[in-house]
Amino acid sequence: MGDCIFCRIVQQELPAAVVYEDGEMLCFKDINPSAPVHLLLIPKTHFDSLAHAQAQHGALLGRMMLKVPQIARENGLAAGFKTLINTGKGGGQEVFHLHIHILGTPA
Ligand code: 5GP
Ligand code: ZN
Repeated sequence: MGDCIFCRIVQQELPAAVVYEDGEMLCFKDINPSAPVHLLLIPKTHFDSLAHAQAQHGALLGRMMLKVPQIARENGLAAGFKTLINTGKGGGQEVFHLHIHILGTPA
């Protein structure tokens, strides 16, 4: 996926302010934040959107969801946060590599 900007961030071909990384996911600051804390959590493996997720992605998606509160806490959002997944052009998706927005204001 050479033209996917999020794959290029995973490959360290583009810079990003990374706040969490493990073998299968990466979380970094949104370049155009809509909240004081605005993070994007992505799988390192490319799939376009939630609508493109396959059965074999189920466990990974579950681990990503379980990681969200930890990342939120570590970034000042222990009091709470919003999550958002835009899916498809009709859902406002602009970058076609699945990502979970994590948004909030530190208490
Ligand atoms: P979407 O509308 O696809 O759900 O959200 C894409 C998000 O990616 C937007 O909030 C946008 O600001 C962010 N974004 C787009 N390009 C880059 C980039 O090169 N680096 C980072 N860190 N965020 C990006
Ligand atoms: Zn990608």
